[in-house]
Amino acid sequence: MEIRIGNGYDVHALAEGLPMWLGGVPIPSETGFVAHSDGDVAIHALCDALLGALALGDIGHLFPDTSDEWKGIDSKILLEKVVALIGKQGYRVGNADVTIALQRPKLAPHIGKMRKTLAPILGVPVDAVSVKATTTERLGFVGRGEGCEVWASVLVIKP
Ligand code: MG
Repeated sequence: MEIRIGNGYDVHALAEGLPMWLGGVPIPSETGFVAHSDGDVAIHALCDALLGALALGDIGHLFPDTSDEWKGIDSKILLEKVVALIGKQGYRVGNADVTIALQRPKLAPHIGKMRKTLAPILGVPVDAVSVKATTTERLGFVGRGEGCEVWASVLVIKP
């Protein structure tokens, strides 16, 4: 059995009147993400962690924001494509751990739904997907409500 680890990081700016998608779930919010895709910064970090585990580059390289093909795309589709890509190399996901830094809204009511949404796409049980949320105590660009920051770690396994 071969085991590899990956980490991913992404940031998106917030602006008023845009939709907010995080972890594959729509979040009721006065602000949303400025992005070429649906702006799901949590899924983007997760994709980069998976790609990183197998040294396959990053999502900016795979799904360039200059391409109309990916304009406004549901990031869950990008995640499906990345999982398929690592599957082609004989790997499956072991577990994933995602940390979202956002000042507001509070994400606690949405964490369960994010885990349930991400698990089948990753091909793992819900207890193998962790999503955690934190504020930054009003410090920095996250604390000022200017953006959202996400870190993701994954383990991938080749049986
Ligand atoms: Mg992104």
